[in-house]
Amino acid sequence: MPLHHQDVHDRARPAGSWWEASAPPLGFAPDRFSGSRKFDIAIIGAGYAGLNAALTLARDHGMKVAVLEAGDVGWGASGRNGGFCCPGSAKLSWEGMLARHGEADTKAFHTAQRAAVDHVAQLLEAHQIDADRVEPGELLLAHKPSRLAGLREEAELLERLFGEDARVVGADELNEMGASGTQFHGGLLTKSTFGLHPMKYLRGLAMEAHRAGALIFANSPVIGWKTGAGNHVLEMPDGEVVASRVLVATNGYAQDDLSPALDGRFLPALSRILVTRPLSRDELAAQGWTSTIPSADTRKLLHYFRLLPDGRFLFGGRGGLDASEHGVHKSLAVLRSAFDAMFPAWSSVETEYSWSGLVCLTRPLTPFAGRLEGVEGAYAAFGWHGNGVAMASFAGNCIAGRIAAEFSGSSIHDNRLPAMMQTMPGKFPLAKFRLLWLRAAYARYAIADALP
Ligand SMILES: Cc1cc2nc3c(=O)[nH]c(=O)nc-3n(C[C@H](O)[C@H](O)[C@H](O)COP(=O)(O)OP(=O)(O)OC[C@H]3O[C@@H](n4cnc5c(N)ncnc54)[C@H](O)[C@@H]3O)c2cc1C
Repeated sequence: MPLHHQDVHDRARPAGSWWEASAPPLGFAPDRFSGSRKFDIAIIGAGYAGLNAALTLARDHGMKVAVLEAGDVGWGASGRNGGFCCPGSAKLSWEGMLARHGEADTKAFHTAQRAAVDHVAQLLEAHQIDADRVEPGELLLAHKPSRLAGLREEAELLERLFGEDARVVGADELNEMGASGTQFHGGLLTKSTFGLHPMKYLRGLAMEAHRAGALIFANSPVIGWKTGAGNHVLEMPDGEVVASRVLVATNGYAQDDLSPALDGRFLPALSRILVTRPLSRDELAAQGWTSTIPSADTRKLLHYFRLLPDGRFLFGGRGGLDASEHGVHKSLAVLRSAFDAMFPAWSSVETEYSWSGLVCLTRPLTPFAGRLEGVEGAYAAFGWHGNGVAMASFAGNCIAGRIAAEFSGSSIHDNRLPAMMQTMPGKFPLAKFRLLWLRAAYARYAIADALP
């Protein structure tokens, strides 16, 4: 039984996203898996994590790779996100991370986040994937004047600890940047993010993995998993894959019953996006927002938004707790009213596309890519905390290096991931009821966001 309403897991439903409508089709036709076949590794999930791992394992290590995807390739979050290629894959604060993991591992995490963004940039470049990349930069906008102090502290910490180029800009400078609004009282400007078209990236990446020799199967859900005699047998409706290694790359779309080792260790949460029709120059000027810089506000239940290259405006936020079709419809109304309040000059501009999807949290609030404890030859990569475009990609690439080394008996290990990301996250207490934990957190966050 999935935690959220089954509508959100229905692979027959297309995402309905602007990305789906505007990306060129996948360059090959993936089969549905049937029969019985042997591979060196089976990867469950064809999102950024699974496909980056597949590309690396097939291209750089010559392994026989099968990718098994329950829906279409990129059906999960990777084909339907906001396109912020950014750091931020942990929800643990920097202070909390320093206290729990120490300075060296915190710095290693920061380095990995930067490396993750660079990894995607290099991948796009190396394979000439045209994913509508926009210039680097990100704005975190203070939604109340009181939040500016926190942004100044964050800028100071980023610069002192990591040497990052981060500065706070006032409302006047926001106006000059074409990023003004009555709800924005200044912002933190950083350089380590860029915007992209998530589905163009996903399909370009899948094509490269396919070219490298990975076999990618769509509409092939793994419904059973047996282990024994040094092998794993993954069952699908029309057949089974036998492999000595398995990588679980299902993130927010994971199921508790896929493996007892994963049961209760992840928390899927809904995220929601709307995209308007293209705005004219006059409409953009009327609102004072002409920048394509990817932006978010300082709310704990944050909104994220960006002007897309063709003049459409993308606006996203948390999607509530009801993942049924009805619940998702209701959450669109909530999102739209937040959009209207933030960008009043566009309140009569039509929403042309809207959709939602699942992101994934962990109990320690940090991501994971490592061995699946207690299951020989099995690995998992998940928990990007709503920011996986960069980190899911990078972690998929890093875990592939580790799997290949362990497969070939080499002692050389990929050490680009910090120790905190290689420790399996603990189980949520009373895991069956972990959506209640989310409900309580949302209520607390709403109060904190409303405080002056
Ligand atoms: C609305 C929304 C907006 C977002 N915006 C951003 C953003 O702007 N920037 C950012 O960095 N991140 C964003 N994210 C998060 C980001 O998209 C994800 O962190 C990232 O795509 C996760 O990649 P993944 O490969 O780990 O998982 P996914 O892309 O979710 O892929 C997992 C796949 O596993 C498949 N699967 C699950 N179970 C099985 C099974 N049993 N058998 C076979 N296949 C299975 C699923 O069908 C799915 O396709 C957003 C997410 C959403 C939903």
